[in-house]
Amino acid sequence: MRVYNFSAGPAVMPLEVLERAQSELTDWQGHGMSVMEVSHRGKDFVACAQDAEQRLRRLMGIGDEYAVLFLQGGASGQFAAIPMNLTRPGDTISLLRTGTWSAKAAEDAEAQGLDVAIVADEATSHWTTTPEPGSYAVAEGSAYLHYAPNETIGGVEFDHVPEVDVPLVADMSSTILSRPIDVSRFGVIVAGTQKNMGPAGMAVVVVRRDLLGHARRETPSILDWTKMEAAGSMLNTPPTFAIYLLGLTLEWIEQTGGLEAMGRRNQAKADLLYDAIDASDFWTNPVERRSRSWMNVPFLMPASVLEREPDVEKRFVAEAADAGLVNLAGHRSVGGMRASLYNAMPIEGVQALVDFMDAFAARHA
Ligand SMILES: *Cc1c(COP(=O)(O)O)cnc(C)c1O
Repeated sequence: MRVYNFSAGPAVMPLEVLERAQSELTDWQGHGMSVMEVSHRGKDFVACAQDAEQRLRRLMGIGDEYAVLFLQGGASGQFAAIPMNLTRPGDTISLLRTGTWSAKAAEDAEAQGLDVAIVADEATSHWTTTPEPGSYAVAEGSAYLHYAPNETIGGVEFDHVPEVDVPLVADMSSTILSRPIDVSRFGVIVAGTQKNMGPAGMAVVVVRRDLLGHARRETPSILDWTKMEAAGSMLNTPPTFAIYLLGLTLEWIEQTGGLEAMGRRNQAKADLLYDAIDASDFWTNPVERRSRSWMNVPFLMPASVLEREPDVEKRFVAEAADAGLVNLAGHRSVGGMRASLYNAMPIEGVQALVDFMDAFAARHA
């Protein structure tokens, strides 16, 4: 039996994708072996990788002025690669710090000797807010502005795309493909694949071609976007199974109506859960309304209940798991509960969660 998996990542994948992969697992395209066993330089695998790239370009509306790269090291690898490809030591960059992931990106840039200007810092709200449009300005001489449109741990999401006159670098790991976006607003988009695009093990990087060609000399080849672009992301052995599953996941998105339809479904799922939380006098969401994430929804119980029953959150998580609703514990750094509602989570799963939350609240109020 499949459970409803609310994990923040690695996350739920579409059943159709898993079943397709299963059906092809031992004999891919008549090779008599799996896609994991064929050469990455063979014409069928190269076509498979190119097909995934073309599907991503079609779905997101990525023009020829952008390169699309499939790289290893996840999104975190790109926290190092971004400054290596776009700056010289001593340069200034600007960063909007809204949670764990943008904070980590700041640390990796600082470690390279950059002057990291935190031009908006939401630490004082304990990562429950995002800066208002127009409330921040890029620091003088910045090479780029880095931000995370959706912070996965706090469950906060920007309600706007920053308007800046430097290249905009977005860590879209937990929001990519959740709805249509205007790619032309961005200089660089990076995303780990394990939330909305397939299994763990890869980062997708979309970079405007005029930003290529500037990597520092000491940049490791596998982090050098220009070298990787020239090699079709195959300077070394790529994560072939992850690329194959990315392609299947993109095909599934196309077949289910593309990003417009995905956006409508994701909004309906988020509305269903937030409406239930708002209607309840038991559950609360700690995030300011305009910054609520569609993808990651933290929810908390009343302090009085936690005092009376110190293990009540553990019981919620365990009882939910018994009911087939798994991975609802909040991140270890924040506690409480969190439900991630990525693309592959059906609305039936969200309805089942809401029903379970209502019943649990009635028992513990
Ligand atoms: C998950 C996540 C990351 C880290 O991804 P890795 O692939 O594990 O490095 C970075 N940023 C955001 C916004 C994430 O959600």
